[in-house]
Amino acid sequence: MEKVSLSCQKFDGIAFVEGFAKAQALVLRPLEQYTPQRSNHQDQERTRFLDACSILKEELDLTLTGKIADEQKALLETSKMLLLDRGWNRQIIQIIDQGYTAETAVHQATHQIVERIGKIEDVYLRERLSDFKDLAVRILHILERLKSGKKLKVIPKQVILVAQSLGPAELLDYDLSKIKGIALAEGSQTMHVTIVARAYGIPLLGGIENICQQVQSGDLLILDGQNGRLYQNPSDEVIDELHRYQASEHKRLLQENKNKDNLAQTLDGQVIELGINLGLADDLLVANAPPFDKVGLYRTELPFMLAKELPNCSEQVRTYQKVLAHAKGRPVIFRTLDVGSDKVLPYVHHQPEENPAMGWRSTRMTLDRRALLRTQLRALIRAVDGKPLWVMFPMIADIGEFLASKRTLELELKSAEKRGETLPSEVHVGSMLEIPSLIFGLKNFVHYFDFISVGTNDLMQFMFAADRGNINVSSRYDTLNVSFLMALDYIQKTCRQAHVPCSVCGEMAGRTLEAMALISLGYTSLSMNPHSLLRVKTALLGVNQEELQNYMERLLKTEHLSVRTQLMAYLRDHEVLF
Ligand code: PEP
Ligand code: MG
Repeated sequence: MEKVSLSCQKFDGIAFVEGFAKAQALVLRPLEQYTPQRSNHQDQERTRFLDACSILKEELDLTLTGKIADEQKALLETSKMLLLDRGWNRQIIQIIDQGYTAETAVHQATHQIVERIGKIEDVYLRERLSDFKDLAVRILHILERLKSGKKLKVIPKQVILVAQSLGPAELLDYDLSKIKGIALAEGSQTMHVTIVARAYGIPLLGGIENICQQVQSGDLLILDGQNGRLYQNPSDEVIDELHRYQASEHKRLLQENKNKDNLAQTLDGQVIELGINLGLADDLLVANAPPFDKVGLYRTELPFMLAKELPNCSEQVRTYQKVLAHAKGRPVIFRTLDVGSDKVLPYVHHQPEENPAMGWRSTRMTLDRRALLRTQLRALIRAVDGKPLWVMFPMIADIGEFLASKRTLELELKSAEKRGETLPSEVHVGSMLEIPSLIFGLKNFVHYFDFISVGTNDLMQFMFAADRGNINVSSRYDTLNVSFLMALDYIQKTCRQAHVPCSVCGEMAGRTLEAMALISLGYTSLSMNPHSLLRVKTALLGVNQEELQNYMERLLKTEHLSVRTQLMAYLRDHEVLF
């Protein structure tokens, strides 16, 4: 940490989602970081607790009246219900009356519930346990806001969330239109919280050491997601810099918007299909998206993660129908449940694992819990209601897993036919390619796939044996590493020879420089977060695909570790913005 002036503090971090933000901090301290504290002002503490409860209720009501996804609504309704739980409230007041602060009382009461319920082998009660924990954390955050003396009694209009780490579900708990930025002590480029933040255009900075200890809720922050810096109580110079950035960003957006309705083709006429990645049927997100060719990746697990219990078939049908309605006839590639690792379902019992990223997750789990997969496939068949169906299976490590999953789909189609339901007019069954073991035998069985989508987020983590969620290793290797690009090149060529459509839906496809690298390898279909689409499109309109491909072919024969510098120089020489 470096002192810039008397009051302005500067923290260094890594920019995982670009952009600038200015707002008050809202520090989310984990439950474990609260130490017991005594107080002699019982009346005051009681009032603080009751105030925090009414502020939370007000916040929940306000969020519930806003434009939020259905899944988010259900989650907030549960919080509201628990807030009124008499037993919990009484226990907190009792602890305060024993001479403790409101924070300590909330913490201890929650701890006691966690201890008590944790011993009971009942799924329903265990579910309630995580609900209570969520609620306690929310109340503690409000108490912190009240304590900070910044008079944040009313909900701040906009905040920058500050936390040690954050799960995607935790983030979706908030009204995202109020989250202007996120600053984390941990974080990584491809963690799911980053992916959600990117989808909503929320700048995110990670790797800021001890940030929760340095910043208080209510502090004014400026997050510079360009240079990876966070300013606390920013000086006038920093504020001026922010204004200059905002003006240039506005100009860039105007420029990109001019290309909104143009055909996405390179200077030499190569048309590039541009898809968007979605995870929630969020009206606002789709309404603000620029024109797109398809939903290249719909992460079905996100609504599951927000639900308080396993969504049944009809609930799933409604969710998928909503996405299809948003896509207005364009293909939607539904990826079946990809849970596990950092995407956990609170209601599915999961044994703790040493290496969850390489553990019982995704297709491995849905093949073992076939009823889960069958219900999801049944819901998808019903949702498309006679229109084309696109299904994609994640984390396929060998062809056997793909064929077994595909057979399950065929069984569901047969059952639907027997029940007299309308069948999809076309069925396209594809696979994510995100585990290296699938690459080397690809030539022999590529014809089994109707399409392939390369998940570079996981492919990168498994090829380099570098956990995508671990800040110490996740940024260690470059996506433009020659070895990695050669693997991507091989996948593309193998699919092309077999006439199997192949696209990339990992985060790499939405980063301009990386997207140009993919185009140079011959990829003609990319799917990305909606926020990146116009930027990538603007860049590709300025490159000559054949020339770029020749350049990349030469680079891949050199001993460079990464082609980043060379590719940047090439694009600069050709006046392509990236
Ligand atoms: C990937 O792994 O690249 C991918 C698109 O899937 P996810 O990020 O959801 O794992
Ligand atoms: Mg993946």
